[in-house]
Parts: sequence; structure tokens; C-alpha cells
Amino acid sequence: MARSSLKTYRKRRELKKSSIYEPYGRIKKSESALFVIQKHDASHLHYDLRLEIDGVLKSWAVPKGMPEKVDIKRLAIPTDDHPYEYAHFEGIIPQGHYGGGTVMVWDIGSYQNIKTKNNELVPMSECYDEGRIEVIFNGKKIQGPFALVRTKSLYAKNAWLLIKMRAIPGAKPKSAKKKVRKDVSALSGRTMNQITRDHDAEWD
Ligand code: MN
Repeated sequence: MARSSLKTYRKRRELKKSSIYEPYGRIKKSESALFVIQKHDASHLHYDLRLEIDGVLKSWAVPKGMPEKVDIKRLAIPTDDHPYEYAHFEGIIPQGHYGGGTVMVWDIGSYQNIKTKNNELVPMSECYDEGRIEVIFNGKKIQGPFALVRTKSLYAKNAWLLIKMRAIPGAKPKSAKKKVRKDVSALSGRTMNQITRDHDAEWD
């Protein structure tokens, strides 16, 4: 290749490179997985945030629910892994069983891992082990980037913080076709009282 054409080639390549905007590095389709937030009226009303990681639902109890404003931090206490099938469970856990009470699928959708290191995605299992998760939620109520960060807390050993992150320019989350009211199920449209009354599903 002649010197001049090589120069042109390099220039074109650079242009092409700079025009590809990848704020989150390379995103593989396989890095998109299921998330669910269940509202759970057990001994204390709380929310359970669950992320599908390697086929199971990694779980956190979030007493105050999802942070609504940027930079707000909410305590998230890790709880037992749940089976994947539990993500769609809405109904009653019988009294006397662990977590006895009413469960609502408050929000459900997909999440996308956006945690990168050297412009490569860090696998979710590694993010979990390292206590530093960054994802975009594409739910019916919750959309946009959130972080989960393991922290040392006075209140709880192994506590995490759930943080709403600033929207990243050029990386608009898909917005839900139809928004769901905050106080009803994202699956069935029922309130907590209706789910309790219907009592059409049990999990023990
Ligand atoms: Mn719970």
C-alpha cells in the first residue's frame, strides 16, 4: 500500500472508531437477564430485589424500596438465593413458613450488566463476588442505571447499598410501552389486598 493511501486508511479507521459510541463497552446479548422486585408483606413490609445471575436469583431485601432520585442510597441486605421460577411467584407464603405473608410482583423485566473494566464487561458473577454491580433496569416501573455496592455498615454485616445512578447520555433505556401504577402488581394489576383476598397461589 502506498504511503498516502495508508494515511487515508488510518484516518478513516480513526474516524470510524471515534464515531462508535459505546458508553458501556461491548454489550453481549447474553449479559441481559431477568430481574424482579417483589413487594413482601412479611413480619415487616419490604421489597425483595432479585437478579438472575448464572441461573439463580441473587437476592436482597430492601426495606425502603427502590430509590427514586439520583444518588439516593437505600440499604439492601443480601438474603438467600431463590430458584429462577420464584421470579414469577405472586401469592401467599403460609404463616409459620419462612417469610410468611403476601408477595406481589411489584416490577419485573430484564436488566443489562454495564460494569466494565478496561472497556470490557465484567461478568455478573464476578461483580457479585466483588460487591460492585452496575446495571440498567428495563422494567415496567423501574428503568435506568442503578448500582449495588457492598459496604461496611454499623447496622448490618455484609450490607449493600442500592443507588440510583445518573442517566448516561446516549444510553437511553428503553421505556416501557405501558407504565404500571406504583401500588399494583406489574404482572396482574392487583393490589396487595386483592392478592391476599384472592389467595390463588402458595409457595412454601
Ligand atoms: Mn422477603
